[in-house]
Formats: sequence, C-alpha cells, structure tokens
Amino acid sequence: VGEWRDDPLTGTATIVASGRAARPDTHRYRVAESARVAVADCPFCPGNEDRTPPEVARLGPGAPDTPGWRVRVVPNLYPIVGGTAGTPAGGPAAARGAHEVIVLSPAHHRALGDLDDDGVAEVFGMLRARAARHLSDGCEHVTPFVNHGRTAGASIEHPHAQLLALDVVPPGVRATEERFASARRDLVAEDMVGARARGLVVVDGPAPAWCPWASSWPYEMLVAHRSTRARFDEASDAELDAVARATRDALARLGALLGDVAYNVVVHSASRGGPAGYHWHVRITPRLVVRAGFELATGVGVNTVPPEVAAAELAAACDRR
Ligand SMILES: [Zn+2]
Repeated sequence: VGEWRDDPLTGTATIVASGRAARPDTHRYRVAESARVAVADCPFCPGNEDRTPPEVARLGPGAPDTPGWRVRVVPNLYPIVGGTAGTPAGGPAAARGAHEVIVLSPAHHRALGDLDDDGVAEVFGMLRARAARHLSDGCEHVTPFVNHGRTAGASIEHPHAQLLALDVVPPGVRATEERFASARRDLVAEDMVGARARGLVVVDGPAPAWCPWASSWPYEMLVAHRSTRARFDEASDAELDAVARATRDALARLGALLGDVAYNVVVHSASRGGPAGYHWHVRITPRLVVRAGFELATGVGVNTVPPEVAAAELAAACDRR
C-alpha cells in the first residue's frame, strides 16, 4: 500500500510506494545504452564550430566560432520560440523569446556531474549571464535546463544546457508563484528544513541537495542555497557557486549509485515581476520510469522508490571525483 503525500511547493500529489519490490530497472535508462555519435561529426565538439549558428557568447580565449572556448553559447538550430520580445508578433499567438544552447565544455563525454569546481561554476555563471541578458531585453521569464540522455529529451550527446526565455510568464511558473504568495512563507526553505528533520539530505553545505518528501520521481533531488533570493539571475557569486557544486555533487552521487542514467536538471526562478518571497532552486529529475495512464489522467505521481530510501542510498554513494 502506498502513502499519499502532498507537495506544497509543486502543488502536486504523489503516491509513494512503501516497498522495494517495484524498483525501476535503472539499467534500461543508462545513457551509455543509446547510440553514440562519432566525435568528428559532433556539432558541439571543438573544430566543428561552423556546424552551429554563429555563437553569441563564450568563456575562454579565441575568436568567435573557433576553438579555444571553455563554455560556448549558440542559438538553438531548431528553436521552439524566436523573434524579439516586445515587437509585434509575426502571426497569431506566436511563441516569442529566445532559445539557446550552452555547451558545457569542449569534452564530448564530460557531463555536468563530471565537471571540476571551476568548470561547473563557469557553466552556472554563463547561465546566469544569459538569463540576465534576456530579462533585461524584455523577456518575462527564463528557464535554464539540462536534458541528459535520450529518454530525458537530449538529441545531441555532447553535454549541453539549454535556456528558454519567454515574453510571457508560463502558467506553471505563475501557479508556483501564486502558491508562494498565498502561503506567505518560503516553500523551498520549508521543504529543506523538513528534509533535514527526516534525514533526506544528500549533500550538505551552504546549498544542500535533498530528496523532497513528496518526490514524484525515483531519486528526485532539489538543490537550493539557504538564502532566499527570488531570482536565479540575481544570485550572488557565492550563492551560485555553492548551488553549482552541490548540483554537480548530487549528479556525481546519482552516477555512482545508478550509472550514467538519463536526467533533467531545471533551474526554477521567479519571473521578472514575480513575488519577492520566491526562492530560486534546482530540481534534478532522473528519468528512470515513464509516466503512465493514471499519472496522465490525474496528475498524481507514483514513486516506487521512497525518498527516504533514495536519500540514504545517494548519501552513502561514493562521490566519484
Ligand atoms: Zn562532441
């Protein structure tokens, strides 16, 4: 029999299975199982800069669209939004904004969880810089994210983040902001405190990583700094570095425990006019299961790995670095 758990942060409910019998077959979701592309054909590898749209930002020496970069940003070749925010729409209900790709490093097989301290700090710093740029250009909300592995939505193997800037506040973001505003308390800090009381902390420090009590996916984790800034683009360097390292450490533990499994990493931030009481955070969602009929019909998650089990396993997992 499962246990019903409500999540005040996401506004969703999850049935958490109490036993270990229905654990997901993590082997099916190993990234290594998917087809690998030859590095010579990879559009994100150094030397192949001409296979992407012209770059819009880089960290590292060298001329634009030549090797030498450590982090490289290009417009998405197949954007789901486009145009300039604030200008007349090109058609009815056009999705307007920006869609960018941030290549995490020149190394074809170095995922977010494999970056060193400087590397992961530079990636998060670039994400913050691009978010700030699009917000100052008139966008209302920016979502940085990483899709790792085919079942998480990645179509190119070379590790990369994406960033979607929109000229509207998406309904899901609006709903979360309204939950913060109506609760009149910090729902992220509350989840963090609850996680500590229940022994769900995976990585401790100024920016802990923990398994939420109402996790709707097996081995799901949140990462947030203890401070309470609303927006990712306004994070201080110290806050950003702490969250970046904790996210990397959480992913390294996930890899040590389950292998190179598919996952999504999403930076959740308040919109430009969002509530000051919001608390930006990172959600790591391993994609070890697929959503089925009951979940699609009801919005209620089914999690066969209780977060108290997941947190204990992740906390005990040997950090590979
Ligand atoms: Zn590559």
